[in-house]
This record gives sequence, C-alpha cells and structure tokens, in this order.
Amino acid sequence: MDPIRIAVIGMGKIAHDQHLPAIKASPAFELTATVSPDDGGIEGVPHFANIDEFLANGPQTDAVVLCTPPQVRHDLAAAAIARDMHVFLEKPPGATLSEVKALERDASTHGVTLFAGWHSRYAAGVAPARAWLATRTVLHATITWREDVRIWHPGQEWIWEPGGLGVFDPGINALSIATHILPRPIFLTEALLKRPANRAAPIAAQLALRDSNGTPVTMDLDWRQTGPQTWDIIVETTDGTLKLSQGGSVLTLPHRGMDSEDLEYPGLYARFASLIRASLSDVDTAPLQLVADAFLRGKFETVDPFDE
Ligand code: NAP
Repeated sequence: MDPIRIAVIGMGKIAHDQHLPAIKASPAFELTATVSPDDGGIEGVPHFANIDEFLANGPQTDAVVLCTPPQVRHDLAAAAIARDMHVFLEKPPGATLSEVKALERDASTHGVTLFAGWHSRYAAGVAPARAWLATRTVLHATITWREDVRIWHPGQEWIWEPGGLGVFDPGINALSIATHILPRPIFLTEALLKRPANRAAPIAAQLALRDSNGTPVTMDLDWRQTGPQTWDIIVETTDGTLKLSQGGSVLTLPHRGMDSEDLEYPGLYARFASLIRASLSDVDTAPLQLVADAFLRGKFETVDPFDE
C-alpha cells in the first residue's frame, strides 16, 4: 500500500517533539512538506512560510496535520479540506465548537477524513483503565492537574489569549481521558475560573461535574505548581480505587500496578492511517464541550497578575 503523503503545518514544540518523529517512524506516512512562518523546516523537506504558498507550489500531498495554536486552525483546515486533503487536528480541535462542526461538514462534503486527535487517550494506562471501569460502579472521581506553566509553556503568548484556553490547554488532556474512561457521560455543574489581572485566560480552575447517575467528579487545575508536578485521576469504585498518574501513563488498580509502554503519538498516527484507509472521520468534541461549559457556566475570579 502506498504511504499517505503528509505535510506538517505549525512547526512549534509539539511538531518537533512528537509529530515529526512519529511520522518518520510510521511506514504508513511519508513527509512531503512543512509549513510555518518562522521555523526553518528540516533538511531535505520542502518548507513553506504559509499554507497558500504550500497549496500553490507544494508537492502532491494527501493529508495535513495541524500543530498550530487553536485560534488559527479552522481556516487552515478548511483550506486543506477544500483541496480534498485529509486533516489531523492537534488538540484542542478548534477554538470554538461551532467551527469544529463546520469542518466536520466540510470533510464529509469532500469525502475526506477529519481526525480530532486526543493524545492523552493513547497513554499506556488509559485503555486498561477504561476496560476495568466498564464493568464497575463508580462512586467518585477526582482529577488533579497541577503543573508549572513556566516550565511547560515558556513564551507561548497565544495560550493566554482568548481561545488559547489557559490552564485548560493541559486540563483538556485530563478531560479527554475522563470522558474516555468513565462509563457514563459527565457534565459540568459548577466552575470557578481564576484569571490573572493581566491575562485573558485562566491560570487555575476548580470544576464540579457529575454523571447522569449523580456520581460526583471534581477537577482541580493549577498552573502555579512548583516542585513535583501532578497529573492524576483517581476513581473510587465499589471494587476499590483506580489511579491513573503521570498523565495517564501509570495505572494502579486495587492490589496491582500496571506499567506498559507509552505510545501516544505512534498510536495517534496509526489511528489516522486506519481512518483514512476506511474513509472515516473521528471528531469527538466531548472534552472541548466541557471546557466551553466551564467558560459558559463558571464564575470568574481575578487573581495576581502573571508574568514569566
Ligand atoms: P508552539 O510551540 O507555540 O507552536 C505553534 C506553532 O504554530 C508556532 O511555532 C508557529 O510557527 C505555528 N503557527 C502559528 N500560526 C501559524 C499559521 N497560520 N500557519 C502555520 N503555522 C503557524 O505550540 P505547541 O506547544 O507546539 O502547541 C501547538 C498545539 O499543540 C496546541 O494546540 C497545543 O495545545 C497542542 N499540544 C501541545 C503540546 C506540548 O507539549 N507543547 C502537547 C500536545 C498538544 P512559527 O514558529 O514558525 O511562527
């Protein structure tokens, strides 16, 4: 089978750290080009400063992956779909839910694959956690996602702008896991969003959610954490406690720990290839809906200004 010819658009941290190595390692894909305004690209691969130049003068390409900030993603995706290319959207799939819906419709009209990738769902502990919880009664779940923004997002001004999501940029990863492993859909009941006086996006948030059975789920997000970083989901069930730590990588079940290899980005590319081969799309917006609901339903509190 011929490899799927793919271009990477938005050559920032995640493109360099994860996408380029995963594409290189996958026999299903062949890198044709890179697109980014300021990045110089990589040796031996045609590079374009913007998508218009790529679409006008670039090599034959079947698919693109969008690794840009979410605020610019819709127009780039729409331009690629209009040229009958398959599109892989980094998380979050867009800056608004309605623009993602519009892309779904465009992809369907053009008969191409649209894939909203949630990388944390491919962390090693997530699939076994989902399988274990499928037959259990959940009593309560607690999500704690506390990290140091200065370490993980240095210089990323877009993340503090409207549509950049602030602390929900990592927090949406936790929600992508929670919406995948918990046996029932969850929805938001209350939220408190703490926004620095000099920023548009929150630096911390507390969420109260529940499922359709009334089972409570709480979430504590904070970007001001120094020292040890915490990315944990703890689920109390009638059969004991499940703990997913290190962002979904390490699963501990009652009486046993489970350690297996993390295959987040190779897993995403395997999924994207299988969707393209089957002429299907996969656009789960549940994590983005919960974030949107927090902005819609939450209270805002102004906290100390944040400077790097
Ligand atoms: P980043 O380092 O700021 O990179 C984003 C890149 O997008 C920038 O380098 C910029 O390129 C490029 N860009 C901006 N506008 C563009 C446009 N119109 N056309 C083409 N390229 C454009 O951000 P990041 O950390 O890689 O994050 C990008 C996305 O991936 C975000 O949605 C984030 O949530 C997600 N993500 C990030 C991580 C992570 O650990 N960082 C993990 C998983 C997912 P130039 O530098 O050339 O100007």
